[in-house]
Amino acid sequence: LLYNQVQDLKGAIRVYCRVRPFLPGQQSNGQSTVDYIGEDGNIMIVNPLKQGKDARKVFSFNKVFTTNATQEQIYVDTQPLVRSVLDGYNACIFAYGQTGSGKTYTMSGPDLMTEETWGVNYRALRDLFHISKERADAIKYEVSVQMIEIYNEQLNGLNVPDACLVPVSCTQDVLDLMKIGQKNRAVGATALNERSSRSHSVLTIHVRGRDLVSNSVLKGCLHLVDLAGSERVEKSEAVGERLKEAQHINKSLSALGDVISALAQKSQHIPYRNSKLTQVLQDSLGGHAKTLMFVHINPELNAFGETISTLKFAERVA
Ligand code: ADP
Ligand code: MG
Repeated sequence: LLYNQVQDLKGAIRVYCRVRPFLPGQQSNGQSTVDYIGEDGNIMIVNPLKQGKDARKVFSFNKVFTTNATQEQIYVDTQPLVRSVLDGYNACIFAYGQTGSGKTYTMSGPDLMTEETWGVNYRALRDLFHISKERADAIKYEVSVQMIEIYNEQLNGLNVPDACLVPVSCTQDVLDLMKIGQKNRAVGATALNERSSRSHSVLTIHVRGRDLVSNSVLKGCLHLVDLAGSERVEKSEAVGERLKEAQHINKSLSALGDVISALAQKSQHIPYRNSKLTQVLQDSLGGHAKTLMFVHINPELNAFGETISTLKFAERVA
């Protein structure tokens, strides 16, 4: 199936919403801010503080996944976009949402992973390797990966061996690299979690394919972006480093929102220069490139405020 023929992906930007389940130990009491999820891509949020018709608000996306959507189901809709990279397209997949809403779960998986709970990253790689093998008689593909972190508007390559671009030949290679990269980061596990919620992490898969008959070469790349937590910190709460981090995150997430909505509206001017993140991704946002954003919702009542601002952000880019 040629990517161009996938009618479903004609729009350059797609937004999917995923609601994470209540976690074991969290008291849901049957109370959730998510009132209703429609098959048509609608989600209805209920405001616990209001009554009557003002208490409910509907948001619309390309698709909304319920709390029991599996990692496999999440990936199925993403698959054509991933595969297009082997035909020479560029693509970006973003995970957006407040800290604890499930971004890393969607992109990578839970801490203790089995193949069944692999996230989009590993499924995408498995798929790319699988298809490149199928096409091996006609096209010789080379795959390499790069991992970077953007923290306080600064770009850091994770310390994987041999600079940043590493050739890989199977998904396990990448899992191993991720482990090395994490170990080589100068911070411990708790600090790592803390920090990862305040930095954008970008896994880029570069694909180069040489046609064995014509010798022509095609190149595509896929950026898998686990964004910094979108929660706004109270001005009164944040001081020093924390305030600086928060300002950088706000700046880069709104710059991303501006770029994506400018693209969606087919604006003349796309403001790529306003953040490190949009600069890094410039070649893969807009033009023939495809963008997919997963927005994540934490259904707990105390997350209501952040849920509304997440959904508003997402509606602006959809
Ligand atoms: P974030 O990266 O947005 O901070 P995480 O992905 O770390 O959030 O998710 C927070 C917690 O919720 C983790 O323990 C994660 O395993 C769990 N979780 C998130 N999404 C799901 C899901 N769809 N199903 C089951 N557990 C989930
Ligand atoms: Mg995370």
